[in-house]
Amino acid sequence: MSALLLSTKPATMEVWRRELLALDPSLDIRLFPDTGPVEDIIAAVTWNHPPEDLYRYPNLRLLISMGAGVDHLFRPPGPPPGVAVVRLVDRLLTTAMSEYVLLAVLRHHRQDAGYRALQAARVWEELPAPDTEVTRIGIMGLGTLGGDAARKLRALGFRVAGWSRTPKALDGIETFSGPEALFPFLARTDILVCLLPLTPATEGIINARTLAALPRGAYLINAARGGHVVEEDLLAALDAGQISGAALDVFRTEPLPPDHPFWTHPKVIVTPHVASITIPRSVAPQVVENLARLREGRPLLNVVDVSVGY
Ligand code: NDP
Repeated sequence: MSALLLSTKPATMEVWRRELLALDPSLDIRLFPDTGPVEDIIAAVTWNHPPEDLYRYPNLRLLISMGAGVDHLFRPPGPPPGVAVVRLVDRLLTTAMSEYVLLAVLRHHRQDAGYRALQAARVWEELPAPDTEVTRIGIMGLGTLGGDAARKLRALGFRVAGWSRTPKALDGIETFSGPEALFPFLARTDILVCLLPLTPATEGIINARTLAALPRGAYLINAARGGHVVEEDLLAALDAGQISGAALDVFRTEPLPPDHPFWTHPKVIVTPHVASITIPRSVAPQVVENLARLREGRPLLNVVDVSVGY
């Protein structure tokens, strides 16, 4: 009686099983929905698992998210009371996210869309040169991912600020914290990057009011969760010119429905939730380590504060 439940897409589960067993062949791994006796399960590694199902395992003590985000575990009814929740913090996840953000920032900053249009028309013409040192980037969420992106953008010479829930100090980066600092942070932001967790406090945070608080012509990059953006408000702000464009990796409905206006909007770049993908081989050691810690009663790694949902 000490089995580990895996739950995600069937092909991905097989990869996870292989990587976990390579590190600890003694693991008893069950692939959802073939759980065996529910009493056996003490831990679960999941992605988008039906939340109510987790109440069926009377001995469940640990939930491990297959990603950095844990909002999928907090969908009603939320994690069963008393069950610890941990997430992934991983070098490859962090690097990939910063690459996505840098790519989107530089594509906008260096007027890539404009030069592509000129190329299509065979026009040899200079667009106004951008000035990195006066371009103000604002990152919502200064955690593992936001902090890394902030440092890398700063290293490129941008003026970078970040907004977090609790106060932070980062070299060369202007920091804002708490709800009262949100609007001053937005007012100084030309390129807004969302790297927040999706929680009751951040749901719909990119809306008509917050978009209107940005300088006219600001650009939006959302690589966090679709639930952060009120999509109709963003479309209206794009069409009104308040927002000059958006790079969006995440959406309210995924996959993005074929008739969604974002697919064909001339100012929107769509990617299919791939900004940063979990590589099972890279994260398996921390999962095996947390299972050992659970067995031995030692403090877990990358613990989520269930009271705030991230
Ligand atoms: P962290 O928990 O390390 O950081 C979260 C940051 O958001 C912290 O700085 C936190 O503040 C801040 N924050 C949380 N709530 C609020 C709030 N109410 N007001 C202001 N700031 C707030 O998370 P990660 O950096 O690891 O990941 C961020 C998110 O990125 C994930 O939750 C996930 O949704 C998304 N993601 C998307 C991927 C993709 O492929 N598109 C891949 C991986 C992650 P404080 O520092 O004070 O705690």
